[in-house]
Formats: sequence, C-alpha cells, structure tokens
Amino acid sequence: MNPVSSLTVDVGRIRDVVGASLSFAVRAPAAELLADRADLHWRGEVEAAGQVINEEEILHVVGSVQAQAEALCARCLAPVPVTLVSPLDEEYRSSRAAGSPFPGKTRNFDGEVRSYRGDELDLTEPAVEAIWVAVPLRTLCRPDCRGLCLQCGKNLNEDSCACQPPTSGVGVWQAALLEWEHRKRGE
Ligand SMILES: [Zn+2]
Ligand SMILES: [Zn+2]
Repeated sequence: MNPVSSLTVDVGRIRDVVGASLSFAVRAPAAELLADRADLHWRGEVEAAGQVINEEEILHVVGSVQAQAEALCARCLAPVPVTLVSPLDEEYRSSRAAGSPFPGKTRNFDGEVRSYRGDELDLTEPAVEAIWVAVPLRTLCRPDCRGLCLQCGKNLNEDSCACQPPTSGVGVWQAALLEWEHRKRGE
C-alpha cells in the first residue's frame, strides 16, 4: 500500500471502543527511515512495539522503539555495533474529532497530540525522533581503547609503535612554572 516505508498500526478494532487496547509490533528497514551520518550507518530494521489504548478522546501509544547501527569508535575509528532503544509515549487524536481537514502531521496548539485519519496510526515520525535522541554523543569500542598513534597512525590496541611519546605540553609548562617559583623564592 505505502510507497514509502512507514511504521503504521491498524487501530480499527479499538478506534470506537473506549477502554479497549491492542498490542503492536511493526518494523521497517532502518535505511529507509533514518539518514546515515559519517560516523553512523543504520542496519537492519527499526522496530516499534507496545500498546495502543483507547482513552476516549485520544489513542494513547505506550511502548518502545529499537534500531541497530554501526558507529565508529571515537578514538580508533573501528566500527562498533550499537543497539539504540528509546521509549515511545504518544497521544493521537482522530483528525475528524480534531475538526481538522488535514490528516497526517497536523497537531493541536500545544504540540503534544498528533492526529490520525481512518484506522491508521502513523508512528514513523515519533519513532525516528526517539531513535535520534538515543544516539550516544560518543561511542568507544571499549572503555580503555588506546586509540591511534598521533604520529604514525598505528592502532595502539593491536600493536605498539616505536614513536616517542610527544613531550607533554603541560609537563613543560609545569616545569617552567616550578623553576620560576624556585627562583622567586631564592630572591
Ligand atoms: Zn577504539
Ligand atoms: Zn606511532
């Protein structure tokens, strides 16, 4: 039906039954929903799962969304598989009830209730937003990754290199300061 992949849930069964709920698990190829970044390549499928509850005025979605990616280690640039999980908690109002002639992405003025039309809840937008929120600022292949040698580029997790450690700028500065303090005291 849909030319573009989306995460939609058929709510026809509970749409008009106050108090009714249903469970869902929907998935779509991650590469079609999420854009790659230089340091992040999406893999497999985005999966959203949870429950929709008919709370009379609104349909309440409670669940979680999950995606797989390959991130690059911030120190040694090795690819690191990561699993991102984020909670979903969204409220939808029928575009009929909201009196809106525009289905889909219209929201009411407080921006917190999404709208839907017919029997279909589209979770794509909140799912994508939730996944981006879960992306870590920095990924390491392991907590003690030794990174790459700044001089020869060798991966120091795999091997050591013959490069001399660079003379520490801080050390040089501290030595100069100490010397200056000694001289000052000597005067
Ligand atoms: Zn690393
Ligand atoms: Zn080196």
